[in-house]
Amino acid sequence: MKTGKIYKIEVDGELVYIGSTTNLRIRKSDHKSRCFNENAIRHNLLLYKTIRSKGVTKETFKNRVKLIWICDVEFNKRYELGAVEAHYIKKLQPICNCEIPWGKKWNKKQYYQDNKKFRKQYDKNYYLNNKDKIKERKKKYNKSDKSKKICLFCKQKYTKTPSDFYKHTRTNKHKKNCISFIDDVIDTKECRLISI
Ligand SMILES: [Zn+2]
Repeated sequence: MKTGKIYKIEVDGELVYIGSTTNLRIRKSDHKSRCFNENAIRHNLLLYKTIRSKGVTKETFKNRVKLIWICDVEFNKRYELGAVEAHYIKKLQPICNCEIPWGKKWNKKQYYQDNKKFRKQYDKNYYLNNKDKIKERKKKYNKSDKSKKICLFCKQKYTKTPSDFYKHTRTNKHKKNCISFIDDVIDTKECRLISI
């Protein structure tokens, strides 16, 4: 199992974004460089546009933009971490999350317009760099169509693919268990103490 972290970003104390990562420090420097490097992937993401529109500069980033740990999540698959992230996005409704992992997209049209160029390049690069991995993954999914996996949160069985996992996260049984799994850490006021 891996340990993932759910975090939030506040600008001058205002919640703007929820994200997940396995390394908070690296993620914070990623956010900073994407925000100020015009050639960086996702430079025009609503999050970075918002940070820049508030007049944050490279020099003031450290003091004004806080990346704050919310909770740790033990997970096997990235989409399991995504499910917890989605829970927090729905619950706390930060203004800059244009999409929920495996959920309904917010401001979908604008999001795609803003990121079309970057996304295209990113997808292309990702494909080229991960050709074998992608093929292998597809093969695995096809093979394991009939096999089941146990949900990390509610211990129910679901089919292995991420899209099936997403369908599964909408069942009542999952929702009930998922909420009890993470509700003890939903009060994020204390998290302010752990800011990177
Ligand atoms: Zn479940």
